[in-house]
Amino acid sequence: MEGCIFCKVASGEIPATFVYEDEFVVAFDDISPQAPVHTLIIPREHFEHLSDGVPEQVTMALFTAVPEVARRKGVLESGYRVIVNAGPDANQTVPHLHVHVIGGKAMSHGMVNFSGG
Ligand code: AMP
Ligand code: ZN
Repeated sequence: MEGCIFCKVASGEIPATFVYEDEFVVAFDDISPQAPVHTLIIPREHFEHLSDGVPEQVTMALFTAVPEVARRKGVLESGYRVIVNAGPDANQTVPHLHVHVIGGKAMSHGMVNFSGG
């Protein structure tokens, strides 16, 4: 999709080091990490949300990549959290489906923070 930053990363137009890649997905470190390990897994093809007709093999590739990314980033044993933000209430800022893999430090039990008000 024209103008989409993650489409540009996937195509190589924006340079990124791929932690993992296969036919359907690529993974790269978040530019603004919120933990010692913060890697994004995205489909090569543009979809905004999981509800946008993502083919099963792409969904499968996204989640099959998760433990492999965790292994390569050294957090498979220590643990990690997987997050997909969808839409405004979740603060999705990049409208290209992506899976956050976050770890490298012990997290609190609560995983949801609401904005004020
Ligand atoms: P979300 O808020 O779920 O849409 O997450 C988007 C994530 O993409 C944020 O954590 C950003 O730091 C990250 N991000 C934005 N642009 C880039 C980029 N060019 N390379 C790597 N990560 C990026
Ligand atoms: Zn895109």
